[in-house]
Amino acid sequence: MSNSIKTVNPFNNEQLKEYNFHTSEQLTQLVKGSEKAFHQWRQTSIKERCRLLNNIAQILEDDKEDLAKLITLEMGKPLSQSLSEIEKCTTLCDFYATNAEDFLADELIETEASESFVSYDPLGTILAVMPWNYPFWQVFRFAIPTLTAGNTAILKHASNVTGCALAIENIFERAGYPQGCFSAIIADHQAVEKLIADDTIKAVTLTGSEKAGKAIAATAGKHLKKTVLELGGNNACIILDDADLEKYMDTIVNARMQNAGQSCIAAKRFIVTASIYDEFLKQFKAKVSGLKSGDPLNNETTIGTLARTDLGDILKKQIDNSVAMGATVISGNKQDQAYFEPTILINITPDMPVFREETFGPVAPIMKVKNAEEAFKMASDTRFGLGTMVFTQSIETAQNHIDAIEDGAYFVNELVKSDARLPFGGTKASGYGRELSREGIHEFVNRKTVYIN
Ligand code: NDP
Repeated sequence: MSNSIKTVNPFNNEQLKEYNFHTSEQLTQLVKGSEKAFHQWRQTSIKERCRLLNNIAQILEDDKEDLAKLITLEMGKPLSQSLSEIEKCTTLCDFYATNAEDFLADELIETEASESFVSYDPLGTILAVMPWNYPFWQVFRFAIPTLTAGNTAILKHASNVTGCALAIENIFERAGYPQGCFSAIIADHQAVEKLIADDTIKAVTLTGSEKAGKAIAATAGKHLKKTVLELGGNNACIILDDADLEKYMDTIVNARMQNAGQSCIAAKRFIVTASIYDEFLKQFKAKVSGLKSGDPLNNETTIGTLARTDLGDILKKQIDNSVAMGATVISGNKQDQAYFEPTILINITPDMPVFREETFGPVAPIMKVKNAEEAFKMASDTRFGLGTMVFTQSIETAQNHIDAIEDGAYFVNELVKSDARLPFGGTKASGYGRELSREGIHEFVNRKTVYIN
């Protein structure tokens, strides 16, 4: 078995760098360092932690061109989208710098005691296993609230974005965090399993596939450690008869095609009512055909490659199997190494892989239904529970269905998106726990009840 990771630019298959795995001795040292840092870090005031957040925001702002380029080189998203990702991380730092003191303040609760309250104490070292699709954002949305709450963090990033992992570690160092507060490890799955068993690790968070989530949660469960899981999604995008297509078509196409469709919260099933179906298809197809492929470092490119060639192979299989069951491809479906042409399928039935399974790429299955009732019924027909979006001019119709949605999010006339101010997370096979907002900073804390009679 190899003891190194080679990162590759998915656009041209050229090797970028080679990184040796940390040895078990190095990992032990890193874990010890994280534990030591925790005892110092937890004593710092929240004010001081917030000051460091401002330093991070400044570094991100100063270095955003280089950081965006690194993202694009390692996982193939267009440079403009990589820049937006870095900018979003800056906004996140600003948000917690402004609000963390309030979120972490003792919460008084009146009882018959002379004083009773909840205090939010850090837990210790938290392990994060993270994916490649938003290699900065996914890490930041875990790390910023978690460190600001007084924890330390160890990151095991996806192997294809190891350069991003080390760049993030470097940002925390330069921002003035004590050594060991945030460490990136270069490790395989077995080393991660061992790490979870280590007493120093108090909890684990994972963003990634259902398979990885189950493996990590099983190991953590064996050692009685808390997990937060942010897994796949199969979000429905419902288009009702009265949807304002002129106004929202860019948003709707973006909901599926941004990041070449490699987003857990992307629109993965389009469910369109009968009387708007033909017009929707015409406009959707026209917009999708306007997407520009090419070198993602080129400013004109609006759709990049997939992060790895094997991800396209999975998509191809899902499409082929759906076509064998009666689906029709009306555009796209060409694969050239890691590039996958944006693909639209119609004549969709609920038993097809493109409807049942998560498609992690630029593939849009479009299903025609009779009316709003059938649309919402189809939308809920999934094992996943990240989010649902509906486009309609009748806010009343949208509101009438809020209770029927079992997902972590419901967006009306907007794509499902993460926002530092709002909780983010799923239900069912999409995982559990919440990130961002007040809820996110309370995931990895001891909510300690204090009662003084
Ligand atoms: P994975 O879930 O395998 O990878 C995500 C992270 O988990 C990586 O850091 C990976 O490490 C790590 N990992 C996976 N299995 C284990 C394990 N047993 N022990 C420790 N670490 C583990 O995603 P893939 O890259 O294979 O993508 C496959 C599918 O996952 C996609 O098609 C998509 O459906 C889903 N996915 C969902 C994401 C989301 O945002 N929810 C993000 C990425 C993928 P390593 O890189 O070393 O294997």
